Amino acid sequence: MVSIEKNITSVKQRIEQAAVQAGRDPNSIKLLAVSKTRPINDIQVAYKAGLNALGENYVQEATDKIKSLATLGAEWHFIGPLQSNKTRPVTEHFDWVHSVDRIKIAKRLSEQRPEHLPPLNICLQINIDAEPSKSGALPEQAIDLALLVSQLPNVRLRGLMAIPKACDTLEAQRQPFRALRLLKEQINQQLDNSQKLDTLSMGMSGDIEAAILEGSTILRVGTDIFGPRASTVNNNGSKPL
Ligand SMILES: *Cc1c(COP(=O)(O)O)cnc(C)c1O
Repeated sequence: MVSIEKNITSVKQRIEQAAVQAGRDPNSIKLLAVSKTRPINDIQVAYKAGLNALGENYVQEATDKIKSLATLGAEWHFIGPLQSNKTRPVTEHFDWVHSVDRIKIAKRLSEQRPEHLPPLNICLQINIDAEPSKSGALPEQAIDLALLVSQLPNVRLRGLMAIPKACDTLEAQRQPFRALRLLKEQINQQLDNSQKLDTLSMGMSGDIEAAILEGSTILRVGTDIFGPRASTVNNNGSKPL
């Protein structure tokens, strides 16, 4: 049995240490609990331990969970690949979407966002290592995409997200995160003051420290909070048993 509370304490210690090393305020870094495939009970434990921001990858699984946990008042982040025919439930149930990689998706999110809700916070997912099989806009498309998305009325462009390829050393892990930070700075040079990006969604269980050293403001952590995901589940959309 893993203890979710203990795991959270140790993840928070890692965040604190890396923030000190980076000369940053640990409170400027949001810890997003990635709860895909996890049962409702585990999510409640994490929420009670202070993690009120939850990340989900699969639309159907997520909307079921959000409905049954409606009384929690959690902040929900959609972080998985998003098809254009699934945007509506995302606009109805989520506060953030981290995985916007083309204008078509952004437009639909803006058009479908219910009027009684505030603008949907979005991040552009960038394929920072330009890996052929990976989702995300290419780095050279990022500025144009950001300028278009920032014009849409019912979404608020907050920043950039990336899932770099796994690397062993801290220095190798830092390199793509640094590239993402520089890309955000480049985009900000072209945006009005009221629209500047304030978010870098980067860092998962294996590279928390590298991400913090390069300026991460949202860490997306699953395994190191909830324990390993069942091996029958992959990251391509398969459902847990
Ligand atoms: C699953 C997932 C995570 C969490 O990964 P862990 O290695 O379990 O911390 C973070 N971001 C995205 C986009 C994911 O799909």
